Amino acid sequence: ATPTALLAATGRGARLGVLVSGARALEALRRVDTVVLDKTGTLTTGAMTVTGVTAVPGGIGAEAAIRLAAAVERDSEHPIGRALTAHARRGRDGGPLPAVTGFHATPGSGVRGTVEGRRVEVARPDGPLPAPLADALETAEAAAHTAVLLRVDGAAQALFAVGDVLRPGSYRAVDRLRRLGVEPVLATGDREAAALAAAAALRITETHAGLTPEDKAALVGRLRAAGRRVAMIGDGVNDAAALARADLGIAMGGGTDVAIGAADVTLVRADIEAVADAVALSRRTLATIR
Ligand code: ADP
Ligand code: MG
Repeated sequence: ATPTALLAATGRGARLGVLVSGARALEALRRVDTVVLDKTGTLTTGAMTVTGVTAVPGGIGAEAAIRLAAAVERDSEHPIGRALTAHARRGRDGGPLPAVTGFHATPGSGVRGTVEGRRVEVARPDGPLPAPLADALETAEAAAHTAVLLRVDGAAQALFAVGDVLRPGSYRAVDRLRRLGVEPVLATGDREAAALAAAAALRITETHAGLTPEDKAALVGRLRAAGRRVAMIGDGVNDAAALARADLGIAMGGGTDVAIGAADVTLVRADIEAVADAVALSRRTLATIR
């Protein structure tokens, strides 16, 4: 491949909405046979809204729960955090959120901090829940929504259901990639029920749920060790290690800076179909110039 031909391909890629940085990425794109897809923010819009709030009877109550959760999520760049904060701001009192000290975000898991002298944590529910919260969890996941749990000083206080929708282009993107011989694999930190609901809608047959950021990277490593040529597409801090581990890391346009920094390629728009375009283009281009 001549540099001129590669540049031309890169220019056309940019018009299609893909920025391909150099010959190595273009070659990786041409050879890819597996694409690992993050769910939240990649296959889905990441524009989450709160669809349900269930408080434990005899606890702090729904109003206080949403206020504490929103306070601790205020500095989170995760779609779940943004949904909870926006929900609280739309609330009736509309007053300022209380201050947080010791904020800590664990990518792929949740956030915690101290608010009004109480230890507040919002995270993926793991383990047994009080009955009303367990019921709410089941209802949320049956609707393919994501459920997160609020704990205050260690005690479960409320379950929030948050939902977003698949991007309109996700179905076509997955279908086109498959027809190009690229096998889709869904990888998410969300729980299994929500993951399977999204996978079923997109007819993706290989799903890995409940993954930490390290698990996502390890999955990419295992696929490569098995001889697959792996592209990873993600948007979040939780995807950075997997993006770096892939043959080709692809960051969603509008994704977090950490994901963009770890990727080889960034989509100009948040449009996965551009990846199918780019794979098709890279194969045509390198076929003609050989
Ligand atoms: P995905 O892999 O689908 O992009 P993440 O890895 O970002 O999802 O998150 C995995 C899970 O961790 C979420 O489904 C949620 O339960 C929990 N989680 C992550 N970040 C937060 C947050 N800021 N607040 C509450 N829960 C969170
Ligand atoms: Mg994501």
